[in-house]
Amino acid sequence: MKPVIALIGRPNVGKSTLFNRLTRSRDALVADLPGLTRDRHYGEGRVGERPFLVIDTGGFEPVAKDGIMYEMAKQTKQAVAEADVVIFLVDGRQGLTPHDKTITDFLRKSGRSVMLVVNKAEGMRYTSVTADFYELGLGDPYVISSAHGDGVTDLVEESLNIA
Ligand code: GDP
Ligand code: MG
Repeated sequence: MKPVIALIGRPNVGKSTLFNRLTRSRDALVADLPGLTRDRHYGEGRVGERPFLVIDTGGFEPVAKDGIMYEMAKQTKQAVAEADVVIFLVDGRQGLTPHDKTITDFLRKSGRSVMLVVNKAEGMRYTSVTADFYELGLGDPYVISSAHGDGVTDLVEESLNIA
């Protein structure tokens, strides 16, 4: 069985950009419109000899009771349930949001292994881009740039080690 990595985070943090990089595909829809990727989306990636599956998700709106946002949250929960390890992406340029805290609570309850990953960190210092996120209580954040590829291979190797 290939280990399954789920990409979780609020809309627009760069999940689909990371998915595309990991699967080297243009499958996931990347856009400036938050929430454009509405379904779970599976792809296959490989680091060295190690294959893995990755699930892109459409975002997470825990307050929604029905409609498209509700469906997205449902799909996201299902992706977490299927995952061996969760990559929880946050946006280093925007900083911590209340939404990130809600997602953290949900992930903690899920019992899954979670890696907190600060994206969009290109050109930023580790201490300043991560400072906000320690209060989530998920330990030292990883920093990456999905767009530029910085830190992505290390992140995946690490995630496969704990999957
Ligand atoms: P998703 O909604 O979480 O799937 O986010 P997307 O992958 O669609 O990306 C949302 C926006 O963030 C797009 O405009 C991306 O080009 C941009 N983005 C993604 N990764 C990075 C990154 O590493 N650095 C910067 N500066 N922008 C990024
Ligand atoms: Mg997306």
